Amino acid sequence: MALHPLSRLSAVQSSVGARVIVVSNRLPLTLRKTEDGWSTERSSGGLASAMNPLLRKGGGDWIGWPGGGGEDDVQGRMAILAQWAEDERCFAVDLPEKVATGFYEGYANQTLWPVFHNFPSQLKFDAKSWEAYIEANRIFCEAVVNRYGPNDLIWVHDYHLMLLPQMLRDRLPDAAIGFFLHIPFPSSEIFPVLPRREELLEGLLGADLLAFQTHGHLQQFRAALLRVLGMESKIQQVAVGSRPVRLEALPIGIAPEEYTDLLKSDKTTADQYAEWVARYSGRKVVLAVDRLDYTKGVIERLRAYAHLLRSSPELKEKVVLIQIAVPSREGIDTYQELRTEVNRLVGEMNGKLGTPEWTPLVYINRSIERTELVGLYKLADVCWVGSLRDGMNLVAKEYVACKPEGDGVLVLSEFAGAAAEMGEALLINPFDEERTAATIERALALDDQERRQRMQTLHHRVLRNNVFRWGERFLGALQEAVSERGRYIDTQPQRLRPTEIRDAYARAKRRVLILDYDGTLVPFAKRPQQAAPPTRILDLLNALASEPQNCVALMSGRSAENLDRWFGMIRGMWIVAEHGAEFKSPSAPAWEYLRPQVPTEWKSTVMPILEHFVDRIPGSFVEEKKYGLVWHYRMADPEFGEWLANELVSMLEAMLAETELRAFRGEKIVEVKPVWANKGEVLERLLASRSDPDFLFAAGDDRTDEDLFERLQSGAWTVHIGPGPTRASYVVANFEALRRVLELFAESGNLSKTS
Ligand code: UDP
Repeated sequence: MALHPLSRLSAVQSSVGARVIVVSNRLPLTLRKTEDGWSTERSSGGLASAMNPLLRKGGGDWIGWPGGGGEDDVQGRMAILAQWAEDERCFAVDLPEKVATGFYEGYANQTLWPVFHNFPSQLKFDAKSWEAYIEANRIFCEAVVNRYGPNDLIWVHDYHLMLLPQMLRDRLPDAAIGFFLHIPFPSSEIFPVLPRREELLEGLLGADLLAFQTHGHLQQFRAALLRVLGMESKIQQVAVGSRPVRLEALPIGIAPEEYTDLLKSDKTTADQYAEWVARYSGRKVVLAVDRLDYTKGVIERLRAYAHLLRSSPELKEKVVLIQIAVPSREGIDTYQELRTEVNRLVGEMNGKLGTPEWTPLVYINRSIERTELVGLYKLADVCWVGSLRDGMNLVAKEYVACKPEGDGVLVLSEFAGAAAEMGEALLINPFDEERTAATIERALALDDQERRQRMQTLHHRVLRNNVFRWGERFLGALQEAVSERGRYIDTQPQRLRPTEIRDAYARAKRRVLILDYDGTLVPFAKRPQQAAPPTRILDLLNALASEPQNCVALMSGRSAENLDRWFGMIRGMWIVAEHGAEFKSPSAPAWEYLRPQVPTEWKSTVMPILEHFVDRIPGSFVEEKKYGLVWHYRMADPEFGEWLANELVSMLEAMLAETELRAFRGEKIVEVKPVWANKGEVLERLLASRSDPDFLFAAGDDRTDEDLFERLQSGAWTVHIGPGPTRASYVVANFEALRRVLELFAESGNLSKTS
């Protein structure tokens, strides 16, 4: 449930006081072997840049792997780690070497990383690295449990630790556990190729809060839940049994002062900058800063740059591309191969296109100091982010932070998470070499006013949506998610106790009973027409409807003609067809319409789409009703059916957005119908005929029954049949359990007549 903005604010403020345990694969400190022992190096990866200032501000512990294992100088190593714990509150998790390799270089970086970045062709998997991944997550779990104190907020980071939330939940059932995914979440067509996909999703669902970089990634996650685990979710929440898991899109920011302060007052930065200005005078500088990873599009960039120089000879000696390529994951073959290929391309390009006075490409294959990096950001006329896929891309934001005057252009891949909130950048498809080259050319020539306008808007946004805000929003959302747990449980339906409801029924004098049909009175059949009511049900309905103190209504999604054929002979019963669009009351001989003159031309547009889905999966078919169209897939392959249903609904939702039609999923169906044709609307007509009921009972199993449950006041006996989330106050296990309750009603009616 969404909270009022002010309560959100207070949650954020109070989160500042809570102690946070940050858990990530790497600590922000790394052990390095030196000649005389060990030294400490401060890491400057995306996550470290983001979390360091946050922890300095809020306090708390950081748990992660410190690097540098082995047999050498074990005592010296332990001494440094003890010091980290004491001085920096960084707590090292040691992984046995074999586990570390299988976990990090194996499952995390050769299985998860490529799949999550839409590179399934790079996927490598073996069961041993999966075992190592489990073991590493288990060791992390132990470390967190050891440091945990009541009311701590646990914040787990990234794809290395996707099993950790559930492991923690098993050990610390009441803990507040949040998870942030820094990398993208793949599309629902790619995610299923992931070996051990079910376990990973289940691992994540142990959290109270799951947050992603963009809404797009969040939607993909929801699609994966449906496709792989068959779990339906709401836009911001998914229920795991009686526990809600909150879903959020929270794009990470940077700590702008870490860059702007250097820009303002650091001497090394100023000296370097002055030197470069002199060196590159008369030339435009294009800057690219990446880890050397196949997802970053370095090769594609070099090709596009070569294309640009060939197609625009006037740029000769007028432009320089500075490519910083920070070595990464060099233990993995793919990364070695990438490095070799990039080296080759760099040599080839400078060899073929350079002149004695001009090296078109300056290639730096090492990590550089931040003082230097900031100088380069300031220097660069254009920053070129060409990720083929990226969770966020902090370089884009850092560059923008270093351009307070607006004198620079950001060229940004539309496949970086940053593109979702940096619309003023010049966006590129990095796979399109020619158009990318054209965009770089445009960036170099952009007129002063447009350049400043675009960059200044970006600059203010990057300063505003900084990493502190991100951290506070995450922790605030985590606290809200935890406080929602109790409320959620209060709103969960109770199991219906037959004797209790029978007594209430027997006491009542003016009863209203509303019953759904399919899935409620009878089980689902393969084809709708096979679900004809057995005599037992007809007798039961007859008995209930003939009771003078009862007003009984059968409400179904079926057509009026179908319901008439099956139930027309039952006297004294309301029949409601097509989810409420048509109804027949006991006092009127003919069907009445909720709305006169309903347009149905839309069917000719929607029908071909549904027919296309029928062609795609054998066993599915379309049913045409007076007001709606239904795609049925009960007889189709279940997994593929769910997947297509998901696709169909997303497609129809977009298409029908501005109309009065809605597409919704029912039990193995997707139905398109007018939004007003619902059981909640027709309820008013029904209640008008029986004012002041003292026993209001409604039972149903489907999404359409939820409209009814929502309209009924508290005090009504609303009953949901089967598992799954519901707004009803009570649940029964299946249609048979409901039938027993109705039989109790009928019997108590008979008793009262005979007594
Ligand atoms: N960076 C660095 N050393 C360098 C070049 C860059 O530490 O030599 C930093 C850069 O400032 C940025 C981070 O590395 O903060 C890269 O983050 P990004 O989100 O762009 O990519 P990631 O490496 O996390 O995939």
